[in-house]
Amino acid sequence: MTMDTHHHNTAHDDMTAHDDTAQNGPAAGAPGTPFDGDHLHEECGVFGVFGHEEAAALTALGLHALQHRGQEASGIVSSDGSDFFLERHIGLVGDVFTHPSIIERLKGRTAIGHTRYSTTGAPVLQNVQPMFAEFAGGGFAVAHNGNLTNARVLKRTLQGRGSIFQSTSDTETIIHLIATSNRGPLIDRLVDALRQIEGAYAIVALWGGGMIGCRDPLGVRPLVLGQLDGAYVLASETCALDIIGAHYVRDIEPGELVVITEGGIESLRPFQPARPRFCIFEYVYFARPDSIVEGRNIYSVRKRIGAELARENPAPADLVVPVPDSGTPAAIGYAQEASLPFELGIIRNHYVGRTFIQPTDSIRRMGVKLKHNANRAMLEGKRVVLIDDSIVRGTTSLKIVEMVRDAGATEVHMRIASPPTTDSCFYGVDTPEKSKLIASRMSVEEIAAFIKVDSLAFLSIDGLYRAVGEAGRNAREPQFCDACFTGDYPTRLTDRQEELGRKPLLARAS
Ligand code: SF4
Repeated sequence: MTMDTHHHNTAHDDMTAHDDTAQNGPAAGAPGTPFDGDHLHEECGVFGVFGHEEAAALTALGLHALQHRGQEASGIVSSDGSDFFLERHIGLVGDVFTHPSIIERLKGRTAIGHTRYSTTGAPVLQNVQPMFAEFAGGGFAVAHNGNLTNARVLKRTLQGRGSIFQSTSDTETIIHLIATSNRGPLIDRLVDALRQIEGAYAIVALWGGGMIGCRDPLGVRPLVLGQLDGAYVLASETCALDIIGAHYVRDIEPGELVVITEGGIESLRPFQPARPRFCIFEYVYFARPDSIVEGRNIYSVRKRIGAELARENPAPADLVVPVPDSGTPAAIGYAQEASLPFELGIIRNHYVGRTFIQPTDSIRRMGVKLKHNANRAMLEGKRVVLIDDSIVRGTTSLKIVEMVRDAGATEVHMRIASPPTTDSCFYGVDTPEKSKLIASRMSVEEIAAFIKVDSLAFLSIDGLYRAVGEAGRNAREPQFCDACFTGDYPTRLTDRQEELGRKPLLARAS
């Protein structure tokens, strides 16, 4: 894998301009910091344009619309058909790709981009995507949303055969599998590589001849196809098509690989057919409310989630208040269904970004107040239904409830717009270890006591399925991935099993 040595390629992998993450440890908003909204974090957003004069600028805009899927780093690789141009930086898309000179360096009519929130791999530049490699047949870049569940085992095998890894990102495994494949054309080698990997992936890739989009056989992570002025666009979500004025064509289907060249678009089905298991948490929290994912508008699903929650778990209250922003659509749905007033009883400060450095202990102790403030005028003397999308560790919920009570609420009834999060995700979402998930350790009653609410209720798993338009969860053949609520993982967890198998040995050794 070459990053900056090939004379045809220009690479700008700049650590200096936006390296607050690297310098200061976990940035604000990252798990484990006081500013963490106590949410799961989506790992990545991917985007690509084939056949447009302004491919790189459009990609920067598309990544900007996907910023919610990853705020740690972003990168674009472009190509004019023979040469490749790389810009990969630590920082927000808007900070990294604003300067015209950076876009001018990204020449060519094809570009792919990636915005990253790291789960696997440390927050260092080697792990920033798109990853680029110079194969015998030419350059190849790949941007990946998801997580492989057998990357470590594959990596060991590859290293045994002489592969030298330059990053700790599991995406590099795909590159090495392509490099070492004995198949002929690039697409065949890519398919050969993808058939060996397990887990979740939505991939946008680029080579001299065109652009590739692919979703894993279960379609765990989203990927859509759009068109703009005859150019093809691939994006994690439709909100990234909207920003550049592209029209939505269709979702890339689970197990589908599209090859986009000057000759048009070709659809391949290189995998064994499988029943799709799209990530249901995309509907609960990850995707942007204005996106349409697998035919469903996220905002509408979230409102229906709120309505289901109100039917399942009514509360004796005067008003419905969301924990903004993620709880807002569900709170609107809840309020409408329960015929209660909806009020913004908590106001969110949108400017607590990743750049907020935690200088002193006293600032750090302010915790959630940096991000959320109670709106006393709405809360005083009121019985409040508080709506949040999920509870991960419970630490933020505790502080928010305290804040709402301090502002004069007489009762706080917490309603959660998803079932209890009991299990870790291994498919590209940053989750704490199972033991850190409060719902894996405590019953609903115990969580209610811990976060000090008058009552607490979660949406049922069937209620969640009803909100996305199903009759309920089909226990024998679940229609979605819902493993973080059920522990029912739709793929093998090869690395995880190996890790668990090894634990006793490590424990004895220490
Ligand atoms: Fe989505 Fe949860 Fe499945 Fe992860 S485990 S892919 S967050 S539903």
